[in-house]
Amino acid sequence: MTLELGEKCGVCGIYGHPEAANLTYLGLHALQHRGQESSGIVSSDRRDLFSHRAMGLVADIFDRDVLRKLPGDHAIGHNRYSTAGSSEIKNAQPFVVETGFGSIAVAHNGNIVNAVDIRQDLEREGAIFQSTMDTEVIVHLMARSEHRDLAGRLVEALHHVKGSYSLLILSDDQLLAVRDPNGFRPLVIGRLGETVVIASETCALDLIGAKFDREVEPGELIVVNREGMRSYRPFQAVPQSHCVFELIYFARPDSVVFGRTVHDVRKRFGRRLAEESSVLADVVIPVPDSGVPAALGFAEAAGIPFDFGLIRNHYVGRTFIEPRQSIRHFGVKLKLNPVRSVVEGKRVVVVDDSIVRGTTSRKIVKMLRAAGAAEVHMRVSSPPTTHPCYYGIDTPTRQELVAATHSLDQTRTYITADSLAYLSLEGLQSVVNPDPESFCYACFSGCYPVSFPYEEITQMRLFDGKVPSRVFSIT
Ligand code: AMP
Repeated sequence: MTLELGEKCGVCGIYGHPEAANLTYLGLHALQHRGQESSGIVSSDRRDLFSHRAMGLVADIFDRDVLRKLPGDHAIGHNRYSTAGSSEIKNAQPFVVETGFGSIAVAHNGNIVNAVDIRQDLEREGAIFQSTMDTEVIVHLMARSEHRDLAGRLVEALHHVKGSYSLLILSDDQLLAVRDPNGFRPLVIGRLGETVVIASETCALDLIGAKFDREVEPGELIVVNREGMRSYRPFQAVPQSHCVFELIYFARPDSVVFGRTVHDVRKRFGRRLAEESSVLADVVIPVPDSGVPAALGFAEAAGIPFDFGLIRNHYVGRTFIEPRQSIRHFGVKLKLNPVRSVVEGKRVVVVDDSIVRGTTSRKIVKMLRAAGAAEVHMRVSSPPTTHPCYYGIDTPTRQELVAATHSLDQTRTYITADSLAYLSLEGLQSVVNPDPESFCYACFSGCYPVSFPYEEITQMRLFDGKVPSRVFSIT
């Protein structure tokens, strides 16, 4: 049993609407890209909490009958993504717990980097954990607090915690939202008449017709209850470090994240990439969907025609059974297939947002050559990913990151491209201007704004053999 980090997730909360669960469901649907492993909603009718969590996609988990069983004017929801091996319902959120101060539900996007230390200390003092989620340490710390009110308990708990959190907490009559002082993950506030909506991204507000009000500021605690919405600044201010990878890959292009429209920023990454590393070619094609805006920007700046040379199948589920006689590039072909007429006989520039292990690019290049491309030039709209993220983006270990162990030319050889170029770190920073210093670039630079206290291997092994003995009772 290993401790799971929070990883990339989406959260949505509604306070003060007769259809709170239904609106939360819609918000989660808009945030599906932030996590496809499991999903859950907890509602409150001002007395009790009602919960439904399951593995799978939002649209498959919730139907009219399920939503009818989530009554009340307040609700929070969560979409979870995590790596293979941790797909367990006990790790689905929102996490519901009955405490001495009442029932609460917690939905967390981010990673608590000192969760292992905190958990070990608490276990030594007799605490019994129910899940392998880092989020659970927050609940245990809250339970131990001497504060009488929920917000006070939360603030005290968070003073022990390091890392990234965009967090929603629901009690019978309050919604709390808090963002870590670094502001790693996004969190926004919207208004739907008198109703308060809090969500990971603005695309969730758009779907339910809520008006974007503002971001929850880094280090800000929002308390929404019968008396209205109040803002607190309980933490010492630190330099901000928004995750630049939200802009590169993770957030939806129609969202406004960290004050920037994601689509526009990605297009400008592509333009800058072309200014830095253009090449003689006949066509620019994106790796859909995440490479599309950058490829558009690249094509515009380079003066090369843009086309769709790869088509994505959007209906790929979690598991597919490969025939016994293995098919070439089966895994990637499930998702992507080339359009022969677009690439045949052409010098092709293929634009993707990032290379992580390099396996996708390698398969794509081979697929394009098999479809008749004369030359394949890979262009990447972010710098080489050389370091793992500890703040909520799922990345493999350093050894598995191709750019950490290979030079540029070795990577080009590995992916079998005619040429390979990444956006420079300076180029990336010039595009996220103004305030490029308010971003975290750790996955490209290795400069971690909040130190990670363990060797990766230690982090993964610490809880070996400790199988939690019971699950939370949820309604
Ligand atoms: P790889 O084969 O490991 O190099 O994967 C690169 C591809 O994965 C690119 O097409 C990216 O758009 C995509 N990607 C980058 N980061 C992530 C992530 N954290 N989770 C899932 N996909 C990602």
